[in-house]
Amino acid sequence: MSTSRVTPTDIELKEALKSLKSSNPTLGVPKIHALLLQTHSEWLVSEKRTRKFLQNEGLVLSADPNGNSFQDKGKAPYPSSRIIPNLDVGKWSTKVEVKYFNKRKGKGLVAKEKIVEGETVWKEDPFIIAPEWDIYDLQVQSNACSHCTTPFSSTVSASLVTSCPSTSSFASSSNNCPARFCNRLCQARSAKHHPLLCPSQNPASIPLMKWTREIQWLALHALAQLTSRLMLANQIDTKLAEEDWRTYSSLAQMSLADRVKYSLNDTDTHSDAVNQPGWKKAFELYIQAFRHPVSATDQKKLIKLYKKPLKPEIERELFEYDGFLRGLGRMSLNLEAHGGLYTFHSHLNHCCSPNISVRHLDRMSLYRITIIALRDIQVGEELNVTYVNPQGGVRARQNELEQWGFGKCVCERCVREAKELRDKGEDFDNVNGDTFEMKDLEKELKAGLGVL
Ligand SMILES: [Zn+2]
Ligand SMILES: [Zn+2]
Ligand SMILES: [Zn+2]
Repeated sequence: MSTSRVTPTDIELKEALKSLKSSNPTLGVPKIHALLLQTHSEWLVSEKRTRKFLQNEGLVLSADPNGNSFQDKGKAPYPSSRIIPNLDVGKWSTKVEVKYFNKRKGKGLVAKEKIVEGETVWKEDPFIIAPEWDIYDLQVQSNACSHCTTPFSSTVSASLVTSCPSTSSFASSSNNCPARFCNRLCQARSAKHHPLLCPSQNPASIPLMKWTREIQWLALHALAQLTSRLMLANQIDTKLAEEDWRTYSSLAQMSLADRVKYSLNDTDTHSDAVNQPGWKKAFELYIQAFRHPVSATDQKKLIKLYKKPLKPEIERELFEYDGFLRGLGRMSLNLEAHGGLYTFHSHLNHCCSPNISVRHLDRMSLYRITIIALRDIQVGEELNVTYVNPQGGVRARQNELEQWGFGKCVCERCVREAKELRDKGEDFDNVNGDTFEMKDLEKELKAGLGVL
């Protein structure tokens, strides 16, 4: 049954909101919005439109101390991050330390010794990697290493290339694993992430990986890699699993649902962000792959790999829907441009005039990153990368950041350039960090959540 719904005019909406707010002065935006839809069930209004009207009418309570003008407790529309307890920073760099700035900005890295222009600040291998799709395709065609992503060409000695351990003489012919590794070292290291995504060892993962590839959803692939790693670490060593969990749960996070909820266009009527069909399908395939395979044979194979259960709180965060959406949000916010997730690198904040750059210099081209200083960095100065093309103007940069799910950039350069535009009489929003906009979900999903 379709009921015909109408979009109220500005005046109608304003009157309705004023009256609701005056009889319920302490309610926040989401609750007022819910009330509005209850009392005017024929109306089509997005929560964002409600919010905007309440803000314009001065009906939103004072902003919180972090400059966050949204009222929903615990649902700040900005990515939040935590310090990783007991992180051994020294294994990457002795010149850099982790600093917690504030709730809004979260953590970052600052120099504790002077760094000179051109210096290699550190090198890092990924925590997990969901490589760009052309490399992924080479992996499933047995033409690139399934651990370090290096394509098998003249640089890799063919005589050292090894197969997935499951490809033994008695392996079932139906789901042969195509994974190949540069050498025994890469093969050994892959035991930390490969088995649960191996078509032969865990056939229940095939539909998930097939669909992920089809729609090119990078964050989903990354979350699958991560889940595999966390579950396998737990089989190897509980302490290792806890360390991995701390790393994962300290990553900057924002649920995919929150990202969409806070970025709905005024005209957008799909306010039920949590019920996006693509997300539901992804979740279903994910659960089938890691928790409840459809067939009994597949279930048996999964149990072989996953004997020791994860701690209940980890189990819940990974396999309940909300946690799953948070996981996707974490992946898309933290992946490096080529699909790797790097523990130390993920601490870096954005600035439109960065002082370091991330390069892929090693033979293992996608895998290992090298952080290089673009200019001298003084003690106490923050290390910044840019998430956008720094050649673009302030408008282009802000748009690009929006697509990544970040709020407006308020770096010195942006504030200055925005002011210049306004001084010239151009219409440009105040760059004050209080707005959070993102064009549309579809674009984001197609962009592979993080790789544009
Ligand atoms: Zn390799
Ligand atoms: Zn395999
Ligand atoms: Zn900026």
